[in-house]
This record gives sequence, structure tokens and C-alpha cells, in this order.
Amino acid sequence: MSPLPPNTTPVPPPIFEPGMTSATTTTAPTPSPVPHRPKQPDSEPDPDPQPDTKPPAHPLPRIRLHLNDLSDAGTSLFLSSVSAAELLPSSIRTVQSHLYPLAPSTCSPTTAPTPTPWHLPPTRSITLILRPMDGVAYTSGLELDPVHHKEIHLSTTYLSSVPASRVGAEIAGVLVHELVHCYQYNGSGTAPGGLIEGIADWVRLGADLAPPHWKAGEVGEKWDAGYQRTAYFLAWLARRFGGDTVRRVNEKLRAGKYEEPGFWVELLGREVGDLWEEYKESVKKGKGE
Ligand SMILES: [Zn+2]
Repeated sequence: MSPLPPNTTPVPPPIFEPGMTSATTTTAPTPSPVPHRPKQPDSEPDPDPQPDTKPPAHPLPRIRLHLNDLSDAGTSLFLSSVSAAELLPSSIRTVQSHLYPLAPSTCSPTTAPTPTPWHLPPTRSITLILRPMDGVAYTSGLELDPVHHKEIHLSTTYLSSVPASRVGAEIAGVLVHELVHCYQYNGSGTAPGGLIEGIADWVRLGADLAPPHWKAGEVGEKWDAGYQRTAYFLAWLARRFGGDTVRRVNEKLRAGKYEEPGFWVELLGREVGDLWEEYKESVKKGKGE
């Protein structure tokens, strides 16, 4: 898999929420709640422990956080809005479970996991770098080993511009989008950029992290316009052809190059242009959501 181009997530339009006068409001950020773990009471070890019922999970990569400048207001905002130690692993789990779900374990933990058709890429480390820059975020592979080691660059300049009440949710949504780039296939660099970005936002959508300005009925100029416009098209395809459809698209981009005609016909029996027309019709009739 060749490294993905560092496509920068576009800056969304400013969001004004009720009671706010401008995007630069000085309201204190609302921190994401830290999950509360009740203290376990002291007790004797359970003589008859239940079998481990935890769902099977993929391994996590090494996760690193790099803060370029602690005096940067956007860095402080990040640190006060989210718990990085919780959010990063849970966001990676979200991406893994959307694109590479494991079959539920049927017996004991010693049983080998049931094989699935999904192949998790061998991502070994992910470094989140907070620094001032234009745009929102982008993901790239490390020059020496772009397949195994990924870097997500998140703009502190952008974070400073997000309404304080939304910072935590926006960080979570952008992170899931960028983490998809750490775990998706791109047909050895041949897939349309809009499809790659659409799959990233399809996961963000499925994780219930869509920002308020996304609108389901907002149809793009073409199917691979990218980002949420393609994400809503992919979500419709998944309803039309089955929940695994986007996973099958991703898997096909692992197995070979993206070539039209052929790609969508082999996958869904139709050309993507025909599917796009059908999608637009269904949106017009109010069924595209
Ligand atoms: Zn992206």
C-alpha cells in the first residue's frame, strides 16, 4: 500500500449555536467526561470465574502524542477538552470495528478467532502531532516506513477557531476521519481521492460524530465529490446492498487497483454512474437519508 496523499480536511463553515454571538466566544470549553470506574470492593477471589466474555478485538498500535508548543492556545484547548489517553485508543477501536469487524467469539478465549473477509493493515504506530498550520488535519506515512508508521497532523490554529462547546466533539470526529486514513486501502494509490475521503467520513458518520453542518440530503456534483457528500452516498449503498458494502469496497482496494469500468460492476453488478443516478432520485423522493 503506498502512502496516502496528505489531503487536508477542509475547514467547515463557521458554526453559530443558540446563545453564541460569534465563533470566538470566550465561553469555557466543556471537557468530555472521563469515564467513571467504580472502585472494586475488596473481596475474595471468585472461586468460579465466568469465562471471558469480552468481545474479540484487534491489537492496538503504539500510540504517541506530540505537542509542538505547550504555549499554543489550541494545544491548551485540546488538553482541556479531551482525555487523549482515552480518546485515541477508543477512536482506533471505532475505526477497526467499522472497517474490520471481528466475528463474535463463540467459545472460550483459547479458541482461534473465526476468520473474516477483512484484512486489518499492519499499522504499528500512530503519532498525533498538534501544531499550528492551515487547514484542519492530514495523515501521512513516515518517510522511512509509510506502511507501518503513520502521523496525523492536527491544526491547533483550527482548534482555536471551533466554538468552545463543540471542541471535544470536533476533535473526536476529525480524529476518527484521520484514523481511517491510517487503516484504509487505496488500490495502491489508484482510488479516487473523493472515495478515500468519503470512506473516512462514512466511518465518522457511522460513529455518530457528524458535525452539525452535515446534511443528509446534500448531494454533491458527482459521486466522488468526497467527504460527507460521498459518505452519504456510501451509506445509501450500504442500505441498498448490505451493511458490508463499504467494507467490501475497502477490501477490493486492498486486492487490486481501482479500475473503471469494472470495479463497481464486479462488486455490486452496476456502474457507479447508474447507482449515483438512483441515489439522487431516492434523495429527491426523501429516501436518501
Ligand atoms: Zn481525509
